[in-house]
Amino acid sequence: MKYCWFEAGGSPLYGEIEERNGEFWVVALLSSPLALHGQPPTKNDETGTFEPRRLSELSLLPPVAPSKIVCVGRNYRDHAKELGNEVPAEPLLFFKPPSSLLAPGGIIRMPAASQRVDFEGELAAIIGKRARHLSRDQDIREYIHGYTLANDVTARDLQKKDGQWTRAKGFDTFCPLGPFIETVLYPAAGLILETRVNGELRQHGSTTDFLFTLPILLEYITSAMTLEPGDLLLTGTPAGVGPLAAGDIVEVSIPGLGKLTNTVQPE
Ligand code: ZN
Repeated sequence: MKYCWFEAGGSPLYGEIEERNGEFWVVALLSSPLALHGQPPTKNDETGTFEPRRLSELSLLPPVAPSKIVCVGRNYRDHAKELGNEVPAEPLLFFKPPSSLLAPGGIIRMPAASQRVDFEGELAAIIGKRARHLSRDQDIREYIHGYTLANDVTARDLQKKDGQWTRAKGFDTFCPLGPFIETVLYPAAGLILETRVNGELRQHGSTTDFLFTLPILLEYITSAMTLEPGDLLLTGTPAGVGPLAAGDIVEVSIPGLGKLTNTVQPE
């Protein structure tokens, strides 16, 4: 199932999505979509009166409100190499603050403090059930509610200068997310992630090239911290990262997850 979170008449609504002739439509309203224990979202009583609307015409919100955003650095071999880094022996974790979330279609603001703001297209997994001390041998589907697209926007110069990544990864608008959640998807089977800037292909990678698979990442993360329903796991970016400039349009896509499109402007 695909669903989004959007705003209409001042209130946030969840909408079930169907693909019709290559276009995404919101066809029904949902209530309590992020159900615990992997239960599917339930239909809203108002569904009967809802007129289908094009996803592209809606005022979308980031599709989930996480308590934390856990990210993995250098999880594709070719990206680790392009920045001159060693391929890590263990997952390299960092956080982005929930305040960095940006809606699909929103404007990425380049902070005055940075001279180089990079895009990083990524697959994001959404936790569906409280998780602690998972094992890589477990069936992790029970713990993953679904998937969406993210852009791990990074102030590359500040990442180097600060020696740790909190500021470089944490500016407001630095975590575009969406446009919708797909609850049935299989990253282990190989999903092709692409990032385009102004229509030009800049990143092309497959999730089969993860250095650390989702079960390994979840085992590693939950050996340290409890993951809550709605928490996000950003799974890393393939090679091809590069700087953004004012006026750019950046688009992250994976077949089945639509396109996450954002524009770039100075602060
Ligand atoms: Zn990243």
